[in-house]
Amino acid sequence: MFPFLIVVLFSLSWKISDSTQPAEEFLHCLSLRFHNSSSISELVYTQHNSSYSSVLKSSAQNFRLSTPSTPTPLLIITPLHASHIQATVHCCKKHGLQLRIRSGGHDFEGLSYTTTYEVPFVVIDLLNLGSVRINVEKGTAWVESGATVGELYYEIAKRSRTLAVPAGIGHTVGVGGHLSGGGFGLLFRKYGLAADNVIDARLIDVKERILDRKSMGEDLFWAIRGGGGGSFGVVLAWKLKLVAVPAIVTVFTVSKTLEQNATKLIHRWQYIAHKLPKEIHMSIGISRVKSNENEKMTIQASFRAVFLGSIDELLPLMEEKFPQLGLMKEDCLEMSWAESDLYFEQFPIGAPLETLLGRNHKSALSKSFFKAKSDFVKQPIPEMVVAQVLQ
Ligand SMILES: Cc1cc2nc3c(=O)[nH]c(=O)nc-3n(C[C@H](O)[C@H](O)[C@H](O)COP(=O)(O)OP(=O)(O)OC[C@H]3O[C@@H](n4cnc5c(N)ncnc54)[C@H](O)[C@@H]3O)c2cc1C
Repeated sequence: MFPFLIVVLFSLSWKISDSTQPAEEFLHCLSLRFHNSSSISELVYTQHNSSYSSVLKSSAQNFRLSTPSTPTPLLIITPLHASHIQATVHCCKKHGLQLRIRSGGHDFEGLSYTTTYEVPFVVIDLLNLGSVRINVEKGTAWVESGATVGELYYEIAKRSRTLAVPAGIGHTVGVGGHLSGGGFGLLFRKYGLAADNVIDARLIDVKERILDRKSMGEDLFWAIRGGGGGSFGVVLAWKLKLVAVPAIVTVFTVSKTLEQNATKLIHRWQYIAHKLPKEIHMSIGISRVKSNENEKMTIQASFRAVFLGSIDELLPLMEEKFPQLGLMKEDCLEMSWAESDLYFEQFPIGAPLETLLGRNHKSALSKSFFKAKSDFVKQPIPEMVVAQVLQ
């Protein structure tokens, strides 16, 4: 009941007002609420500010939603403290402005920095609120929403090779949106989604209150872990239960073209992948490549996996469960769990862990024009259909 009320309150309070100068009125409201008024000029970007455009574009990933016709915010607020967010929520309600919350900016449809409704809106960009605190003894982490998944992985890896957090592969993704929506990655089969491992959170609600798990109650705490970002309030920070991983994990990539039986292997994989031990995560990437044999273009399926264990443990297991793939020792590499994320993102072997801190990695789904959809098949796709898809 409570989460439902919150949604209603947020949407009612964000209805458009007929103010002629919403930005000025809003700024005046903020100036009364920000304790240090000089911080307004440093933390608030109006459309006249020379940095407005670069701040807006800084973490936007989908260029399809950064065109001249894309609606842009009246202002961008980059808070340093929770009180700045409380002030922004207050002034948005007072002046009938819609509020967008941005952590890493990776929303496929740009929901954190644009809108399809013709209403004036402001963006709270959490780029300054990205601290990560790890407690190795207790196996927990407090991470602010503005951190990236990569920053979280890096801070864990600096302190321990045997602790990890089950979250996404894309290291530039923001923790705020990721945990709000679920968070699916290499440890999913063994430890579930990132959101499944959240044990506490700090949230600012529509009444500007700062709530933790106890004060928000279990219903709202349940909703913010997977119910979708931007619906229930601004999540400031999350407490995560870290999970155990071996100091050494094994990764491999086996690539097969159509001429090397890729169709049959993909079809077979559907019957095997979900029955493998939960320590193995195996996915297939499909791409167009030049054939080694005749230089003609062909389709290649790359079976890429991470195994929570050593090469010697993995090889007999794969021989038993998926002999058709023909996995060889020389296909495999041992590394730390954090390095395996970089491997999956296809950084060169030996790339330093600091690579996880970079925010500008370019991939098919970042810093490009794209439309992305996910789907789940409930029954194996027949081999003939796989063959048609690969044509
Ligand atoms: C390159 C790329 C790689 C990806 N890799 C993976 C992956 O490996 N696994 C996976 O599961 N997903 C992956 N995703 C999807 C990604 O997890 C989601 O798009 C996620 O919502 C992005 O979070 P964000 O903070 O970066 O995005 P944002 O655009 O900042 O936010 C996304 C949504 O959450 C809301 N929100 C953001 N911060 C908060 C907050 N603090 N409080 C409340 N609401 C908030 C926003 O308003 C918006 O609605 C990937 C996406 C991209 C573009």
